[in-house]
Amino acid sequence: PTDLNDLADEFLRLSYHGLRAKDKNFNSDFQLDLDPNLPEIKVVAQDFGRLILNLVNNAFYAVYEKAKTKPENYQPLVKVTSKLIPATGGKPETLKLTIEDNGNGIPDTIKEKIFQPFFTTKPTGEGTGLGLSLSYDIVKAHGGDFKVESVEGEKTIFTILLPNKDK
Ligand code: ADP
Ligand code: MG
Repeated sequence: PTDLNDLADEFLRLSYHGLRAKDKNFNSDFQLDLDPNLPEIKVVAQDFGRLILNLVNNAFYAVYEKAKTKPENYQPLVKVTSKLIPATGGKPETLKLTIEDNGNGIPDTIKEKIFQPFFTTKPTGEGTGLGLSLSYDIVKAHGGDFKVESVEGEKTIFTILLPNKDK
């Protein structure tokens, strides 16, 4: 049994402090909006830790890149939320996790490619292009759903929906 709230808390901080260790001048807000009623879920904790780390690393990278171009009044923000969605009409109880950033967003032209293995827009050495493809496999292996919404130049939101199989 794994507490996704704990993983979210741990890896959001880890990711932020990792970036700050590389660049002391970088500051970003980060928010955790975690549902205290989120049940523990039977998953491979290592996989879900990696999944969350991939997503928050991508999010901080996106706000970091945007901050470098110094838009006016820009305050970088990465936000992780969790929410328990009760079972309704045949649909099982579901854990919802969102990872949101106000970075540069994902252009429509590449949106369908980002889950492909080795697809990356990052310079050599900064990205393998495997994070989202691995994350997708982890969510699908659990019978879950993985979606992305993004507004170019503004924000990106990744949503993970996981059925609670213990219910
Ligand atoms: P990598 O981070 O190694 O590039 P990923 O599979 O994690 O590989 O991501 C693939 C690509 O998807 C990234 O290179 C980037 O172009 C895009 N991407 C992922 N997350 C975000 C995000 N939060 N904001 C903007 N672009 C993103
Ligand atoms: Mg990545």
